[in-house]
Parts: sequence; C-alpha cells; structure tokens
Amino acid sequence: MWSAMPVPKLLILGGTGEAAALARRLAERFGARLEVISSLAGRVARPRTVPGRMRIGGFGGAHGLIDYLRAEGISAVIDATHPFAARISAHGRIACDALALPRLSLDRPMWPRHPGDRWIEVDGMAEAAARLPQLGRRALLTVGAGEVAEFSDVTGVWLLVRLIADPGPLPLADYRVLLGRGPFAVEDEIRLLTDHAVDILVCKASGGGATEAKITAARALGLPVLMIRRPPPEPGARVAEIEAAADWLDCHVISAARPCGKGV
Ligand code: NAP
Repeated sequence: MWSAMPVPKLLILGGTGEAAALARRLAERFGARLEVISSLAGRVARPRTVPGRMRIGGFGGAHGLIDYLRAEGISAVIDATHPFAARISAHGRIACDALALPRLSLDRPMWPRHPGDRWIEVDGMAEAAARLPQLGRRALLTVGAGEVAEFSDVTGVWLLVRLIADPGPLPLADYRVLLGRGPFAVEDEIRLLTDHAVDILVCKASGGGATEAKITAARALGLPVLMIRRPPPEPGARVAEIEAAADWLDCHVISAARPCGKGV
C-alpha cells in the first residue's frame, strides 16, 4: 500500500538575523517539503516572526535538547546562532552526535581587517576590561547585556553602552545607556563616536553586515578597537552562505537519495 513519506523536520538554533533569513529562504525554496522549527533563547521580548514554527526558551542543557529532538522527531539541525553563543552550539553538537543527526553550522564571516585598522585583540571580556583603562577614557561598549557586568571594576573610563533593550541600572562606575539595534549606517556611527568624543570602541569579533558600520567608522576616525576574539567554533560541517546551507539540507535531508555536490 502507498504511504506518503514523512516531511523532514529541521531545527534551526537561531537568535540571529542570519537564522531568520535562513528560515525565510528555506520556506521559499522547499515549501511544504520541509518543516522548519526556529528556536530562540528568549532574550528579546518581542522577537521578529519567521516562517515555520517558533519555539522560545532553553531546552535544559544538552540532555534537554536530546529529549526535545527525539520527542519532535527532528531530522537535522542547523546551528545559526551567534559566534559567541558557545554553550548552545556545544549542546547542539553533543545532542546531534548522541542521536546521529546531521548537523550544520551556518558561520557568520568575520569582518575583514584593513590596513590602518587599530585593533587590539584580546581573549575574553576580563582581559578587555583589564586593558581598557590603559587604552582610552571614553569608550563605546557594544558587548551585549549579558557581558556588561564584566566591566564593573573599570574606573577612569566613561562607558557609552549600546544595547538592544533597556537593561535597567547597570553595575558600572560611569556610564550612559544608548538603545539601538542594527543595521547601522557608517555616517550615523561616525556622528555617534564624534558627538560623544569616544576614543575607543570595545566589541566582540561578531562579524556580519548589521554591525560592521562601527568598525568602518572607527577606521575612518583612526580610533583603536578593543576586539574580543571569538570562542573556538564547534567541529563539523560548516558553510558561510544561506544558499549553501539550503543545498546541504537538500542533499543530506530532503533528497537524501541524490549524491551530494562538491562542497556540501
Ligand atoms: P549561550 O551562552 O550559548 O547559551 C546559554 C543558554 O541559553 C543555553 O545553554 C540554552 O539554554 C539557551 N539558548 C541559547 N540559544 C538558544 C536557542 N537558540 N534556542 C534555545 N535555547 C537557547 O547563548 P548566549 O550567548 O546567551 O545567546 C543566547 C541567544 O542569543 C543565542 O540564540 C544567540 O544566537 C543569540 N545572540 C547572542 C549574542 C551573543 O553575543 N552571545 C548576540 C546576538 C544574539 P539550555 O541549556 O537551557 O538549553
């Protein structure tokens, strides 16, 4: 008797613009041939909706994620989280390995370094906070709400703290909060840095187009950038383009009988 093949189910570990763009592209390209669930940590109060299902909140560690993948009957996982979201990426690897599920990382390319860039690269927030007072007096800090407290011992530096949502009072000596969400324009970033007499930028090596303007602005103004390096990525298959992620999915999950092309 004829029976329909079950539609494969993809879990996107998200929370980035790239994850949302991926969900939109997969809906366009595969339509009803693929079910997509986008997962968010729940850090943003009103996340933008994307095609497919959305689920919000932690899974309860790697074991919780294993239970979730099993209960939902997930066929594959694409990790499209932020390059600094190391814990959920590790959980994704552990859970997929445990269930022998295909997993792909969608990488966000790092900003290219240009001649004349004055980057001071450090290995974490603590090192950035320790070095900041020797490097500047007025800093634009764009490290995210979860990391701001690492700068609580910094004295002698005024911090202009840019965040997506109002964090309430911060445990910092001398600061002002500025609310803003990318993409930002280079002219606006130059104006911001100039108007506030900022003499150093502190940021994560996040990469991606949405927040690159501050790097370009710092370059244009000759300002130093205290750049926090990325944590090491999880091993495994990775691509940097949304279409390549769709190709991987097509080959490994949707048309699994077909041989995969080069690079996927
Ligand atoms: P993290 O340190 O890697 O993860 C902490 C915990 O948050 C995880 O153990 C997991 O909880 C939960 N979690 C994280 N991402 C999740 C997701 N997509 N779906 C369900 N649960 C998730 O992550 P983070 O650095 O706090 O980032 C949280 C989210 O914000 C990520 O989705 C990331 O893509 C996004 N984001 C992060 C940054 C950044 O700079 N870190 C910047 C922009 C966006 P359980 O252990 O309970 O499962």
